[in-house]
Amino acid sequence: MLVLNFRDKIQVMKMRTRMAPSPTGEIHVGSIRTLLYDYALAKQSGGELILRIEDTDQSRYVKGSVERILKVIKDFGLNWDEGPEVGGPHSPYFQSQRLDIYKKYALELVEKGVAYYCFCDEDRLEKVREDQKRLGAVPKYDKFCLNLSKEDIEKNLKEGKPYVIRLNVPKDEMIEFEDAIIGKVSFPSNDVDDQVLLKSDGFPTYHLAVVVDDHLMGITHALRGREWLPSTPKHILLYKYFGWEMPKFVHLPLLREVDSTKKLSKRFGSVHAMGFLEDGYLPEALLNFMMFLGWNPGTEREIYSLEDFIKDFSLDKVQKSEMVAFDRQKLLWFNGMYIRNLPLEELWRKLNSWYKEYSKDKPKFSKSTEPFNLKVLDLVRERMKKLSEFNDLSEYFYEKPKVDKDAVIKFSENKDRAKEIIDNFISVYENVSSENWNIEYLDKISHEKLTEFSYKPKEAFMTIRFVVTGKDHTPPLFDVLGLIGKDEVLDRLRKFKL
Ligand code: GLU
Repeated sequence: MLVLNFRDKIQVMKMRTRMAPSPTGEIHVGSIRTLLYDYALAKQSGGELILRIEDTDQSRYVKGSVERILKVIKDFGLNWDEGPEVGGPHSPYFQSQRLDIYKKYALELVEKGVAYYCFCDEDRLEKVREDQKRLGAVPKYDKFCLNLSKEDIEKNLKEGKPYVIRLNVPKDEMIEFEDAIIGKVSFPSNDVDDQVLLKSDGFPTYHLAVVVDDHLMGITHALRGREWLPSTPKHILLYKYFGWEMPKFVHLPLLREVDSTKKLSKRFGSVHAMGFLEDGYLPEALLNFMMFLGWNPGTEREIYSLEDFIKDFSLDKVQKSEMVAFDRQKLLWFNGMYIRNLPLEELWRKLNSWYKEYSKDKPKFSKSTEPFNLKVLDLVRERMKKLSEFNDLSEYFYEKPKVDKDAVIKFSENKDRAKEIIDNFISVYENVSSENWNIEYLDKISHEKLTEFSYKPKEAFMTIRFVVTGKDHTPPLFDVLGLIGKDEVLDRLRKFKL
């Protein structure tokens, strides 16, 4: 018997998903999580991902933000199939270039009697709001213009009076829909305002534009953050009035800080997708971490490539909860693990492009040769959790360190003993030939001398480590000395004066 489960069924239905950012500033990291799910659904079903720029609020438009949004999405490798730069059958993909379309549909609703012209000015609207507030009611438009006669409307339009078009929300109804994650959701229509659909500047509001475009662009699944849930009844009404089939609505849990019930906050670190890249997170680590922000495959597996995620992701394993914790420590762990496990050359390439594109600091390695840099990277990446830590972890390979004299003494009993250790090791290392200057030999000879002078390993090796590197935590000492080289190690030991 052939039993189709949910995943088999969605496999045969091509999904068209979309991401619809507004160019009002930086893109939130949560939008990348939503986009990741959009991407997985489109790819696993052989469908398409559409990118649409929702630039209908001209007052909130931030110059340069479209370019930054496109760049960050590309940097995460979540390329879209239709949209800006690539075009597609539903061009243009910028809402500001589709104004005629929205106007036509707004007028169609007026024609049908489910939307109406409103000529109220700001003073009147303000007064209505104040009165309602005084009575303890939730402020809503009072449908004043719904009662205007045909003649009044004609006259106002002829006089060129500014107007908006509003949705006529019915009274005393329940507006219901089935969310793919939350299940059945219902809103009393009396709580829904007569939403402005077309503004006086001729631009649509989000509500009209999103419905018209999702319909015209054939979107089958509308994924978005839970903050949009209260807007959905307006969209449901619009679909009903237009007589259009609705996409599946998919409201995803919002992201919150660990131990908090509030959304992500700058106080704890980045909240914007680009901020994480600037901080030195690898896009693939961030994606892997974000796969689990809502989705739970029900196994112990934590490491997923994008390819594997596309295969395994399904909406029926997404949590119903309103919020999920964005565990920054866990993200750091993911990132460190990706840094350690990437092929060395690939990590080196990523580090270089990070310095070029995102870093605020210049790399310290720019004057050294690539083979040397690769060896340094191979040593320090064990301790590296973010690309941005490379400079700090590797600086002593590239320049003489500043060494805190008082700190050196703390490793041995006193100043004289520290001095003696340094002098003895200078003579030890002076006698090592250049051919023998390698990890194994340095390890062997250093340990022999330790026994000869009866030093404790910690006091001798920490003293040498600290004088040569300026740090008390480094990769294994003889790896470090081997790589820095005989002349430079001796120079640092000789120049150090207590
Ligand atoms: N333009 C909305 C935003 O910037 C998109 C909401 C939606 O996906 O429906 O978040």
